[in-house]
Amino acid sequence: MRYYSLHHQSAPVDFKTATLLGQAPDKGLYFPESIPKHSDTFIRQLTAMSKEALAFQVMAPFVGNALPEDVLLEIVSETVNFPFPLKSIHPSIASLELYHGPTFAFKDVGARFMSRCLAYFSKNQTNKVTILVATSGDTGGAVANGFLDVDGIDVVILYPSGKVSPVQELQLTTCGHNITAIEVEGSFDDCQAMVKAAFADQDIIAAMQLSSANSINVARWLSQQIYYFIAYQQWSDDTPPVIAVPSGNFGNLCAGIMAYQTGLPVQHFIAACNVNDAVPHYLQSGLFQSKPTIPTISNAMDVGNPSNFVRILEMFQQNHQAINALVSGYTITDETTMQTMQSVFQQYGYTLDPHGAVAYAALEQYQQDHPHASGFILETADPVKFPEPVTKAIGAAPSIPLAAADLFSKTKNSIPMLNDYAVFKDYLLSR
Ligand SMILES: *Cc1c(COP(=O)(O)O)cnc(C)c1O
Repeated sequence: MRYYSLHHQSAPVDFKTATLLGQAPDKGLYFPESIPKHSDTFIRQLTAMSKEALAFQVMAPFVGNALPEDVLLEIVSETVNFPFPLKSIHPSIASLELYHGPTFAFKDVGARFMSRCLAYFSKNQTNKVTILVATSGDTGGAVANGFLDVDGIDVVILYPSGKVSPVQELQLTTCGHNITAIEVEGSFDDCQAMVKAAFADQDIIAAMQLSSANSINVARWLSQQIYYFIAYQQWSDDTPPVIAVPSGNFGNLCAGIMAYQTGLPVQHFIAACNVNDAVPHYLQSGLFQSKPTIPTISNAMDVGNPSNFVRILEMFQQNHQAINALVSGYTITDETTMQTMQSVFQQYGYTLDPHGAVAYAALEQYQQDHPHASGFILETADPVKFPEPVTKAIGAAPSIPLAAADLFSKTKNSIPMLNDYAVFKDYLLSR
């Protein structure tokens, strides 16, 4: 499989190069030259497959011959080595729990797959690769965990001081070894700007081999298809599901649409957003306009200019009507998110996190217009990662998984830093 840049100014590359580069030299996102199609037999028989074998079949056409088969099988097996239960909340809404991985959020899947690919691809390189990543919370933990103790790779994570939850901060700051956490006196956007400046800085590029781990990397994006297939293994209705995806940068939804285009049965997708709703606006109006970011309680989705949106356009050849036929957008306020967490807990005893609650509220609104539609939400994080709003909504603290309890016995280790690129640059060059 070859990947072209959506800016069309760089040459197409294979999966290995697309993964190593992250972004094309012309700053475009990579996109596969063709969309593979699974056979009807494969779709009919996938229920009987192991999740490892299924994950292998999903990824193999996208990886092409960039990885030997035994290596790809090992990588996908490690990627999906935790449960992905589809739990019924009530007869027409289920929850696909994507948070049973090491850092309790769905980003573990993409991060595990990508880190293992990068480790394999950079095995014979003499220079250490430094992964720079800015995080608003979940990405940093997943990336740190994915790269912990991987030979030849150093990870530097920038996070906004005081703006991530306690569990998120401990996941970032307690790894040690080849993982360094920098606590920036500023916002997520400030962290992101410092990382971008480093990537564009000739002094830095000359001194060290940088790579990025953000969600535009094809290895992260495409491996997220796997759990849509694992969900379908557990879907027992004759009619395909409506799938509600809590969305920020739209990597997750973009993976779901790709799975659909390769042949996975899906009735409809819901782009569930908080008030950062540039995409729902586009779906209604046909006009895309990025917006300044507004802080919400579902803060992993506080994105004003979602980077994967251009990929969604490409999948539909920029055809607004075609996108609307498959995807509906909803804007959910914090107030509705809180009410949803509360009522789902009271009625069904099920605890949603704020991101899952946005998806739940959106799916309920869709069902008001489509009363026979049944489907599921993607529950993208364990409620324990967002204890403040969850506790407020359900009147009790979310239960702490065993692995998270372990975190609280560890000591935070971060490098405090001013929001000043010159300071960050000096730090990088002195490492
Ligand atoms: C990152 C994240 C999202 C948004 O996913 P995108 O792929 O950026 O749309 C949703 N929920 C949680 C918990 C996240 O960490």
